[in-house]
Amino acid sequence: MQIEIARNLELVRLAIDRAARGAGRSSAEITLIGVTKTIALDRMLSAIELGLTDLGENRVQEAIDKMDALGDRPINWHLIGTLQTNKVKYILPRVKLIHSLDRWALAKEIDSRAEKLGLRVNCLVEVNVAMESSKAGLPPAEVRDFVKTVAADCPRVSILGLMTVAPPVEHAEEVRPYFRQLRELFDSLAKHQEGYTMQHLSMGMSHDFEVAIAEGATMVRIGTAIFGRR
Ligand SMILES: *Cc1c(COP(=O)(O)O)cnc(C)c1O
Repeated sequence: MQIEIARNLELVRLAIDRAARGAGRSSAEITLIGVTKTIALDRMLSAIELGLTDLGENRVQEAIDKMDALGDRPINWHLIGTLQTNKVKYILPRVKLIHSLDRWALAKEIDSRAEKLGLRVNCLVEVNVAMESSKAGLPPAEVRDFVKTVAADCPRVSILGLMTVAPPVEHAEEVRPYFRQLRELFDSLAKHQEGYTMQHLSMGMSHDFEVAIAEGATMVRIGTAIFGRR
């Protein structure tokens, strides 16, 4: 098991490096987030021992259980799944970055909880680039106003970039236009940063991360390619 994870992780790191260099970028600009939903602790520990520092979970309860179990190891936790407002209180201040800020009520809840704790909370705005009815995330046309409103009215919420989950496709190339569209939105928001910054572009999963890196991803969220099928 340790050997399998070591080999997978090595292959993923090599592929990230190759994709970055192919795009004239450096892999140092790209954060690998190991997605550990449904993955058991012993497998997570193997990956941590192999130097994986950033872990992503999409359910709050599972994330908290694993944070407790892994104790004081220096892990950067990412919340990448839909976040219910009534769960916000459980994950602050333990997550480094919330990737799934997608509605006003959630921004308000994070802001008021963060104020009580005396913190600022780092968030990415989730965008439903392909406008899939089954998916969370704001339609691209609403992102600009949302970012500005949160920046103006939620001082404890630090918006640091954008995130998307691309549609499931057979060939990764098919999602390139969606990644490009998100990148263009990111660049255009980056021109007038007022109360927010555009540092992180979280896009790309096991089957499409190389395309995402070619289109400018700074964070890739990879589960299956590291830990095997869930
Ligand atoms: C599960 C999940 C991933 C990882 O998916 P893989 O295909 O296993 O790499 C990435 N992002 C989100 C939001 C997820 O829920």
